[in-house]
Amino acid sequence: MKRDDCEFYHVGERDSACEYHPTWDYAPEEEPDEGIVKVIEEFFLPLYRTAKQLGLGKPVIYFFDPGEEEIVGKCVRELPNNVAILLLHTRSHLDCPAEEVAITLLHELGHLYIESCAVYDVFLETEQEERIVEEFARDYLHDAEAAVEKLISFCP
Ligand SMILES: [Zn+2]
Repeated sequence: MKRDDCEFYHVGERDSACEYHPTWDYAPEEEPDEGIVKVIEEFFLPLYRTAKQLGLGKPVIYFFDPGEEEIVGKCVRELPNNVAILLLHTRSHLDCPAEEVAITLLHELGHLYIESCAVYDVFLETEQEERIVEEFARDYLHDAEAAVEKLISFCP
C-alpha cells in the first residue's frame, strides 16, 4: 500500500497515462483497515491477471471515504488504456470475511468489463448488469476460469 501525492492510499501502480483521480469525487480514507489491505494485496495478482484476460488495463485500487453515500465500492474505467480504477471503503468491510472484499473488487471489475463491451453495442439494463456482475464475482471464487468465460460470453 502506498500513499500518493493526493493523500490517497492505493494498491497497484497508477498508469502514467491515467488522468482520473478519486480526489475529483471523494475524500481519501484516512486509515484504511490494515487487515483488509493485506487481503487486497494478496488478491492483487489474480485480480490483475483477470483484468488482463478481460482486456482491461492495469488495475489500481484506491481507499476512499464515501461520506454520506452508502456505497462500499466504485469503479472508473479510464480510456484510452482501459485502466481499471477501483475504489474501496475498507470500513464498510470490517466485519466481512476476506471473500466479501474480493467479491466487491470482482463485482466492480465486472462492471468495467460490461462497460467496455458497450463499444460493441452491448447494453444491459442496470438490474440485469448488477445480477451478471454479482454472479461473476461469486462464481469466480469457486471456479475463476469458468466465471471469466461466462462473463466474456456476454460480449460477442
Ligand atoms: Zn454494481
